[in-house]
Amino acid sequence: MKISGKTKIFAVIGKPVDHSLSPAIHNAGYSAVRMDAAFVAFEPENARAAIEGARGLGITGLAVTIPFKVEAFDACDWTDDFAAKIGAVNTVLIGETIRGYNTDVPGIVEALEATGTNMDGLSGVVIGAGGAARAAVAALAQSGCARVDLLVRDPEKAKPVAKMLATNLSLPVALEQLGESASDDRVKKAGVLINATPIGLRDDEFPIDPALIRRALVLVDLAYRPGGTPLIWKAKTAGALTVPGESVLLEQALIQFKLHTGKTAPREDMNAALLGGKPA
Ligand code: NAP
Repeated sequence: MKISGKTKIFAVIGKPVDHSLSPAIHNAGYSAVRMDAAFVAFEPENARAAIEGARGLGITGLAVTIPFKVEAFDACDWTDDFAAKIGAVNTVLIGETIRGYNTDVPGIVEALEATGTNMDGLSGVVIGAGGAARAAVAALAQSGCARVDLLVRDPEKAKPVAKMLATNLSLPVALEQLGESASDDRVKKAGVLINATPIGLRDDEFPIDPALIRRALVLVDLAYRPGGTPLIWKAKTAGALTVPGESVLLEQALIQFKLHTGKTAPREDMNAALLGGKPA
């Protein structure tokens, strides 16, 4: 990559951001389509100031990651339908107005579709109630699930999120406390389970009885780490259909690339950079 005065800059904002694979994936994409562009990472204090700063520098596209997706939503003048429904943005285009998109939702939908499973009428379980969980619930609604249960460690705190999702997605969304028998019961009845917490990035014990992870389950772990997460390994052993976080990351990045550059994303090259697995 040759940087010059004409090189166009894109960036991801997050905190922490040093683990992000987005720079590696997007830079591989620019090289493949011979675009004079570079993708870097920033760890700002807050999203709004970062977006205003980017505008001042003439940066036209940002990716947004943990913990700024909700704050970035608030900083936008316009958002796409997915972002409006879940109140979270992971892609920002900066021009005369600030436009927000959520590519996590279609990214999860694409990754679920790739399993070949018909989701119509299935019961979904999502662990967590943060930005990724909101996208996961919207993706399950989009894929045809009939209801979603959010399993969380603090149901009182998650109540407004569950209510907002149920209203905006016209979907029954119930809350259960992780570790209680009612939450185990929901996992037993689920056809698809999505982990939308960072559990598994270290060697945390997973708050779901491994015996509940069975063959007739599609299991998505949005958390990812080299070699796979303990949850993905348990699910593979149980014979479940698994979707690793890297698959979702790639699908959402392909859509984000097109939004940022207007060019079709080179899937093979971006996937090879992802499989290379080294944060850039
Ligand atoms: P977030 O907004 O900070 O939300 C994290 C959620 O996890 C919160 O509900 C939090 O509960 C819960 N949580 C954290 N530690 C927990 C624990 N030990 N036990 C139970 N619940 C716990 O973060 P996010 O943006 O949703 O991201 C969540 C994960 O998904 C991250 O690992 C992120 O990297 C990953 N992700 C991956 C992709 C992808 O493309 N693969 C896309 C988006 C996100 P409290 O509210 O109680 O703290």
